Amino acid sequence: MNWSQLRTQLLDWYAQFGRDLPWRHTADPYAILVSEFMLQQTQVVTVIPYYRKWLETLPTLQDCAQATLPEIYKLWEGLGYYRRAEYLHRTCQIIVEHYAGTVPQELAILIQLPGIGRTTAGGILSHAFNLPFPILDGNVQRVLSRFFALTTPPRRNTQQLWQYSEQLLSPEQPGRFNQALMDLGAGVCLPQSPQCDRCPWQNECIGYRTHQGHLLPMSEPSQAIPHRTIGVGVIWNAQKQILIDQRPRTGLLANLWEFPGGKVEPGESIPECIQREIHEELGIEIEVAEHLITVQHRYIHLRVTLVVHHCRYRGGTPELRGCQAYAWVGLDDLPNYPFPKANQKIIRALQTSSPPSWLSKWPGDEYNQNEPCDPQVLW
Ligand code: SF4
Repeated sequence: MNWSQLRTQLLDWYAQFGRDLPWRHTADPYAILVSEFMLQQTQVVTVIPYYRKWLETLPTLQDCAQATLPEIYKLWEGLGYYRRAEYLHRTCQIIVEHYAGTVPQELAILIQLPGIGRTTAGGILSHAFNLPFPILDGNVQRVLSRFFALTTPPRRNTQQLWQYSEQLLSPEQPGRFNQALMDLGAGVCLPQSPQCDRCPWQNECIGYRTHQGHLLPMSEPSQAIPHRTIGVGVIWNAQKQILIDQRPRTGLLANLWEFPGGKVEPGESIPECIQREIHEELGIEIEVAEHLITVQHRYIHLRVTLVVHHCRYRGGTPELRGCQAYAWVGLDDLPNYPFPKANQKIIRALQTSSPPSWLSKWPGDEYNQNEPCDPQVLW
């Protein structure tokens, strides 16, 4: 295998066909750090507007370190995998506290920081500092598995794949080489149908020469993804405010706000579920009214169906039983709170549909005299 020739072929191809991406126009280690966090598990096209907005709002690493967690979540809202936002924030704080605000250039230090694994560290070191560290994201795994015709799933070949990525890496231009390898996977060596006719490595690729490129990489036996139906309540009070609560500090979607609700139990109707969940979660009484929207959403390990109903507040002061804070907010204030992606569809439905007809006839209702109408936020 002529490694030098392979490098030249790929770098020449990249000079002609590489993608023009905003983080490729900077050498600022902080901006590259932000892009690397955002690109974990998320497609480039989705990341671009978030990356731009983030750097407009928090242009320096110090700005990020000083931002509040709610500000961080708001900027990240809709990008998914929210733990990354928390890790990025914490990483910037640690860099300010322990490394004088300068992104470290040592692999051993970087991989100790929250949310930084070997691939993210390699991306930062090679891109920001042109240091010879390889990467192994999903695109690179696929390209290398095909190029070397590895017939076991990448997860069982990790060590071998890292070795190949390191051997191939250009010592002179590691940053450009890693970017080129990612672009080859994203634009040519496509998951379903590799475009081998456009590939600079076609002549050397073992997968192509043995007619198995499109069959690789081997995948792990698939597992059925569990599904849950969730009853969700949009609870209105007589002041036309909606009750939202903030999820716990740890676990899935930590710290985000949501419309309250929970999993439907066997034999339970959706209204029964919403009534029970609201009582268990917040200790208040409600009346479940008309259906608003049904939302399908998929996480990595779980599919959910959110069945959302308007609800009428009936009494009791909300308690923090299954959440860390609650707030009564007007419809126009909802965009000020960071919500998970699935809840964004509920907000859009509220903004584009008529409010329930009973809401306008409600003032004077005897059930709503005890509840404060000012928004309450308990961070
Ligand atoms: S020749 Fe085909 S299978 Fe091989 S690396 Fe290129 S695109 Fe992928």
